[in-house]
Amino acid sequence: MAQTPTAPTPTLAPVAFNLLALPYAYEALEPAIDAETMRIHHGRHHKAYVDNLNAAVAADPALAGVSIGDLMGRVSTLPVVIRNNGGGHWNHSLFWTLMAPVGQGGEPSAELSAAITRDFGSMDAFKTAFNRAATTRFGSGWAWLIVRDGRLQITSTANQDNPLMDVAEVRGAPILAVDVWEHAYYLRYQNKRADYLNAWWTVVNWNMVNRLFAEAQ
Ligand code: MN
Repeated sequence: MAQTPTAPTPTLAPVAFNLLALPYAYEALEPAIDAETMRIHHGRHHKAYVDNLNAAVAADPALAGVSIGDLMGRVSTLPVVIRNNGGGHWNHSLFWTLMAPVGQGGEPSAELSAAITRDFGSMDAFKTAFNRAATTRFGSGWAWLIVRDGRLQITSTANQDNPLMDVAEVRGAPILAVDVWEHAYYLRYQNKRADYLNAWWTVVNWNMVNRLFAEAQ
């Protein structure tokens, strides 16, 4: 009787990073962002970044237990798979918290409003400049509002890069971000990124932006 080969014991790498549940239902951002987009974006795209990041970190014992923020600060020294998937994980984890159902996102705080007026002239001028950064980011990437040297600044990054990375052209503390990868908007808006952005402003969670702004001071 042939002996059944013993199955190898699976090596279970410790899970370093987790995909958190959204702080709202998939359909909660309708009509600005449709439920199917949210389901795929969170459940497949973000999940893939987390899974790939965990696999990459598990492959390098020197990275065990290293925080995501620490990884971001030295991506230039790490495999590109960590830059892409670590960035993807960090960016999306922030992005979900920066949105809220229409009517639940609050308003910019007095302190944030004053800083926006100081650094951009007005809220309208700020939004115009932010939209310009988001629409002119060629291909896939992100637009950001950051605090840098005590002032607000708009920047954008390609792919899953972010302003925490040591490779970023402009580094600072992100307080607002929008994902302009087509996977963030294509089902509802197709190629009309500007229409997506106009709708996205209706679901910005200013309560979170205010908090991040206060923490970055
Ligand atoms: Mn995305």
